[in-house]
Amino acid sequence: MLHGLSRLIPAITAHGLDEAAVYRRPALYHRKRTGRVPAGPLLCPICNGSAARFLTFGLGGRRNAQCPHCGSLERHRFLWLYLRERTPFFRRRLRVLHTAPEECLEPRLRGLHGRGYVSLDRFSPLADVNADLTDLPFPAGSFDVVLSSHVLEHVPDDRRALREIARVLKPSGWAVLLFPYDPRQPTQEDPAMDTPSKRLEAYGHPYHYRIYGRDTAARLSDEGLTGRCVDSRLLLTPHRRRRHRINRNFLFLSHPSTGHTDP
Ligand SMILES: [Zn+2]
Repeated sequence: MLHGLSRLIPAITAHGLDEAAVYRRPALYHRKRTGRVPAGPLLCPICNGSAARFLTFGLGGRRNAQCPHCGSLERHRFLWLYLRERTPFFRRRLRVLHTAPEECLEPRLRGLHGRGYVSLDRFSPLADVNADLTDLPFPAGSFDVVLSSHVLEHVPDDRRALREIARVLKPSGWAVLLFPYDPRQPTQEDPAMDTPSKRLEAYGHPYHYRIYGRDTAARLSDEGLTGRCVDSRLLLTPHRRRRHRINRNFLFLSHPSTGHTDP
């Protein structure tokens, strides 16, 4: 998760900066200090911080999105609650691969799984391993869990990345995958969107290659993964979504097609 990308958008679109040129900047991985926010009815389930309001975040300026204490966004809080309440993630030591580790989650997940936890990123200096999701430096069957939140839409050949996720999972393993997803339409993807400014226009972000759609489960299945979509509205009551500030969000629970048992 990056901080301050919006400030770079004019330079990115004017000069066509590629992702590596931007994402290798260490400053993007360090959250700016925020002013004090008074306590209030909102509660972040990750850090247990209370707040009267959350902070605005994102290229579109989403209001009440970011926890002022730990920096979590809606999708991080959704993922956290899902892992805690619907999987054995908090009850068992597991071998976990966490891609593009978010700073609000990374130390907490590492604390849960100790040496079984590995973080991976293409560019971030904060990750344990710098590698590409399409070419993972791990033997087959290395992990119980792969967490990949808002990474696959940045990967031009996401099908190859999905095959790699299926490969490094144990047969009994599972992955939680999040990405921009719109179930009302098929996946939006066009090779003609070949510059940061075209992609910003088409997908709302200079380094996104698609918006996943209702064919996502079939896409996962093509590459050796099952895919069950979980909707935040079905997982959490309206009261909890308001209290934790979780918007309409989706995740996919996936297993290698050859193994698959629910976690
Ligand atoms: Zn928090």
